[in-house]
Amino acid sequence: STVTKVKDEEIKKEKIETRVTYNIVFVTAEAAPYSKTGGLGDVCGSLPIELASRGHRVMVVSPRYLNGTSADENFAHVFDANRRIKLQCFGGEQEIAFFHEYREGVDWVFVDHPSYHRPGNPYGDSHGAFGDNQFRYTLLCHAACEAPLVLPLGGYTYGEKCLFLVNDWHAGLVSVLLAAKYRPFGVYKDARSILVIHNLAHQGVEPAATFKNLGLPSNWYGALEWVFPTWARTHALDTGEAVNILKGAIVTSDRILTVSKGYAWEITTVEGGYGLNQLLSSRRSVLTGITNGIHIAEWDPSSDEHIAFHYSAASLSGKVQCKTALQQELGFPIKPDCPLIGFIGRLDYQKGIDLIHWAIPELMEDDLQFVMLGSGDPLYEDWMRSAENTYRDKFRGWVGFSVPISHRITAGCDILLMPSRFEPCGLNQLYAMRYGTVPVVHATGGLRDTVENFNPYAGEGRGEGTGWTFSPLTKDCMLNALKTAIRTYRDHKSTWEGLMRRCMQKDFTWENAAIQYEQVFEWASIDPP
Ligand code: ADP
Repeated sequence: STVTKVKDEEIKKEKIETRVTYNIVFVTAEAAPYSKTGGLGDVCGSLPIELASRGHRVMVVSPRYLNGTSADENFAHVFDANRRIKLQCFGGEQEIAFFHEYREGVDWVFVDHPSYHRPGNPYGDSHGAFGDNQFRYTLLCHAACEAPLVLPLGGYTYGEKCLFLVNDWHAGLVSVLLAAKYRPFGVYKDARSILVIHNLAHQGVEPAATFKNLGLPSNWYGALEWVFPTWARTHALDTGEAVNILKGAIVTSDRILTVSKGYAWEITTVEGGYGLNQLLSSRRSVLTGITNGIHIAEWDPSSDEHIAFHYSAASLSGKVQCKTALQQELGFPIKPDCPLIGFIGRLDYQKGIDLIHWAIPELMEDDLQFVMLGSGDPLYEDWMRSAENTYRDKFRGWVGFSVPISHRITAGCDILLMPSRFEPCGLNQLYAMRYGTVPVVHATGGLRDTVENFNPYAGEGRGEGTGWTFSPLTKDCMLNALKTAIRTYRDHKSTWEGLMRRCMQKDFTWENAAIQYEQVFEWASIDPP
């Protein structure tokens, strides 16, 4: 009722008024809607807004990428903050400019430099990763350390009492710079840094000789020092010596977070640790996981601007219409009862694309439809295109990156497949569940944490769970799970509706996660700023 609603609002307000608030600086290579290639962009585009709504002062520092396509319009409301500074790194002074937009309670700050203006995505183009990424993200980190000191946003700077949220290796140098360049001179003594690991597979490793470019005192080499095992060296004279920026961040950050509890544990194991498991184990007392939330306004089947029909758990008929619309858009025969399975994601070894590739011939023997949206590995891009010809009425392989299409697939499919080899959190399964699309996932990392395996007998025979989790990661195991899901969809309509409803009722709001982040902020701070 309105009375309780008003009361809830009052309680929330009171909570915010009495809460300790912080000056928070996110440093990140992507932030949606300005830039996004994956989950990092989603998280850094939505968690800051939630934290700001809870009374914190929040800044996000990210590059101002311009690639000459319509994506540049994402920066249309971002203006020059008229602050140019010179950064000491890469053998000289590098000049950057700050751009800024205040939106939804957050200061979105963009670092401008010619090296961020080029065709492609943030990290590379069709020829692969850019060769100067170490330079580009070193600039980002130096600039991000200066931003709270020099930018009078809304009239006054953030100042030194900041909490830096250092996201993945691109931002990793921030923690090292605080320790090595600022604190010895009495600056940022009360600042804290929290490393958030979204994906441990990327660490920012470059030859040892590049250390001198990073703008760090030479006696800090040890913090970044990295030696490749013998088998990974290319020739006899290769000593395997390198610098590893993520390692530097693990060593110097006050706290370490990952994007799910499962992944926080996995990265301390040999299988999931990518060479950093021992170091991470040694920091276990400051390492925790917090499952990502989702931007519930952007991913809402009752108001999504990208889908043709709206629906909710109370009224599911719009989902059937979304399915028909998707079948039409994909050029599939329009069959409301034919199971429609989707995959969305980077075409990468991490995502288990190889398994899908091997499973498709057997899957295509059944009466079903399968749509894939993704870009990445050219081999799999080619395979997706050719499979379209082989299985005309049953398979669509959409090569590219398109947010509107990802929404329509999420809404229109019955089942979403995610056979990720490892998955720090995974967002698509969360989006799928919110849209009543039942996930079938490999039981790993955040997938295992968020998808509850279906049990038809639990809940007094009504069934419990929100999808299927399979393990081990083999083609047959994946096919078994998928076939069980398909059979349930076909033969047990009311069971399926129960599954859909349970999915849609799950709470994936950021509020939950934000409360846990605040706990970590408190732990990280000796006394609040
Ligand atoms: P990761 O960060 O490893 O790529 P996540 O599941 O955490 O995986 O996040 C992926 C995000 O990127 C989701 O928002 C997903 O919808 C989006 N995405 C991935 N590939 C595409 C694509 N080809 N087109 C549109 N969105 C995509």
